[in-house]
Amino acid sequence: VIEIGTPNRSVVTTCAYCGVGCSFKAEMQGDELVRMVPYKHGKANRGHSCVKGRFAYGYAHHSDRILNPMIRDRVDEPWREVGWDEALDFAASKMLGLQETYGKKSIGVITSSRCTNEETYLVQKLARSVFGNNNTDTCARVCHSPTGYGLGQTFGTSAGTQDFDSVEDTDVIFVIGANPTDGHPVFASRMKKRLRQGAKLIVIDPRRIDLVRSAHIEAAHHLPLRPGTNVAVVTALAHVIVTEGLMDEDFIRSRCDWEEFQEYAAFVSDPRHSPEATALLTGVDPQALRAAAHLYATGGNGSIYYGLGVTEHSQGSTTVMGIANLAMLTGNLGRRGVGVNPLRGQNNVQGACDMGSFPHELPGYRHVKNADVREMFEALWGTEIDPEPGLRIPNMLDCAVDGTFKGLYCQGEDILQSDPDTKHVAAGLAAMECVIVHDLFLNETANYAHVFLPGSTFLEKDGTFTNAERRINRVREVMKPLNGYADWEVTQLLANAMLKKSGRAEWTYTHPARIMEEIAATTPSFAGVDYALLETKGSVQWPCNEEHPDGTPLMHVDSFMRGKGKFIITEYVATDEKTGPRFPLLLTTGRILSQYNVGAQTRRTENTIWHEADVLEIHPHDAENRGVNEGDWVKLASRSGETALRAKITDRVSPGVVYTTFHHPDTQANVITTDFSDWATNCPEFKVTAVQVSPSNGP
Ligand code: SF4
Repeated sequence: VIEIGTPNRSVVTTCAYCGVGCSFKAEMQGDELVRMVPYKHGKANRGHSCVKGRFAYGYAHHSDRILNPMIRDRVDEPWREVGWDEALDFAASKMLGLQETYGKKSIGVITSSRCTNEETYLVQKLARSVFGNNNTDTCARVCHSPTGYGLGQTFGTSAGTQDFDSVEDTDVIFVIGANPTDGHPVFASRMKKRLRQGAKLIVIDPRRIDLVRSAHIEAAHHLPLRPGTNVAVVTALAHVIVTEGLMDEDFIRSRCDWEEFQEYAAFVSDPRHSPEATALLTGVDPQALRAAAHLYATGGNGSIYYGLGVTEHSQGSTTVMGIANLAMLTGNLGRRGVGVNPLRGQNNVQGACDMGSFPHELPGYRHVKNADVREMFEALWGTEIDPEPGLRIPNMLDCAVDGTFKGLYCQGEDILQSDPDTKHVAAGLAAMECVIVHDLFLNETANYAHVFLPGSTFLEKDGTFTNAERRINRVREVMKPLNGYADWEVTQLLANAMLKKSGRAEWTYTHPARIMEEIAATTPSFAGVDYALLETKGSVQWPCNEEHPDGTPLMHVDSFMRGKGKFIITEYVATDEKTGPRFPLLLTTGRILSQYNVGAQTRRTENTIWHEADVLEIHPHDAENRGVNEGDWVKLASRSGETALRAKITDRVSPGVVYTTFHHPDTQANVITTDFSDWATNCPEFKVTAVQVSPSNGP
């Protein structure tokens, strides 16, 4: 039973799960939250919600919540519960001691895409102005960092180009490497509505996702490609568009660099990129591919939506650029109903990236080498900023194993469960001398921590999240932090504990609104954002500034953020992960609707229908060849490791492909995955692992 009383007041806030960013009324009875009601004026969801958001408060009072700080000298010692002052003093002394012994760059931070913009801004500021280095990275590293690179290169900024509403003017919905029904349910409903109205669908995915069933059979084009061949398929689509003269030449001439286009056109026109030439490699039927290319180029307004099935590859950034090329080729940019849209998995991936969480970029995607931008922040923060980019998460772990990286403050992120190559992550964490975990629960990473700082849920804080359409939504305090402090306050307390010991001026933020004032003062795309505006408008899409005081639903309308759109050559390079006799199948991964990422919150929400175990989807032919029946335990083994799951036999996956989710820690899907990563951003290649499946007696 979820409802436990009659509400007598409500607070409007934003769901803390996926990048749709649904608005809810948290209805309260006194201090008790009794239910979450989708808010009809919420511009991202317009009164709709999914099951996750509806019950998103269940975990806030879970008995696993840790509400008091804990410390220990060694990770094999039991935790010692202490007061906040002692914990922060312990953490500050350790981190400063490490810098004294091993140098300024021996410590770093990981920010969380689940935290607010204001909190994320403070964590990167902690690294840059208190630690004195750029060792700040975010969990977007393992999901959408290729979006940052790919859209930055081609369009000039790393963000979705259109608002959710404009799907209503889309004639061709083109989904690649995403499963909106499970990952972004409320927006998927809007896509399905549009499909029912007659829009056509292109899906490029190794698995027949639910959306394919939502379109009329003749309107749905599903191209089930072999995992790891996105670039080849996208280039083959471009080959058809260019060689058959389907491109929008007026758009290309007026909006893009013509010389670069000509080089690109010559590249894609090469016969080796034809659908027929690439079919053996990609597994995609050439006629189906040609039909999809014709539909996208000539079927009216086309909108591309993509997810981690694009980014989490060794060529993730290349595919993002290939997608941008397709949109520029066909003029599908800069007006309602068209665009390129990364579907952000977590609530605030967009915001975490906007806020300068990357080791090479200050807030607003400005490189740390940019002296003018550095000087502005230096004047404001009263400290020098390192002009050299810092370490990415995988580099932090590598350096930890090598003995040069010694201390980590990790906020709201369980890297041991969510990052690739679990053994290497564990080795890196074990080699550090001070790991500070700031989280709701004692997660897997906390096994290697020396300091645990209790975190607060989204219900216990004020701030903002930025959703996948760049919409800045308000998060409002529904109840007081159970642990005593909102996360932004904890970061400030840690910063001040270190600053005090160093005899430096302390931070004095009194409310997240003050942090947003600083963000607006330093970040051009946020220049017009303040809490008063958000009260009036409900939400606003960046850029919001003097030029766009009401925000910007559609980007790149008259010109690209970088000026001319840039076509980039997208040469396919096969992943180093190869199938062979020992590991003949390819594993790809995804999620289910009722669970959120590693399940830390959803697994602690009272509703048994949400506790389905992860299973392994396998094609009937592959199951039969291995003597595997529905529901059997199977061993899933790769060159990296092995785990056991129950088999689900289905033709949603093609022969040769298996699929699982990663919501439960006992599944340990990332024990299986490789350490290959995107060439440009180090985003791990979660989506392609050569595996073998065999009958098993269970874990
Ligand atoms: Fe909306 Fe996503 Fe939350 Fe579901 S999980 S309610 S779709 S924001």
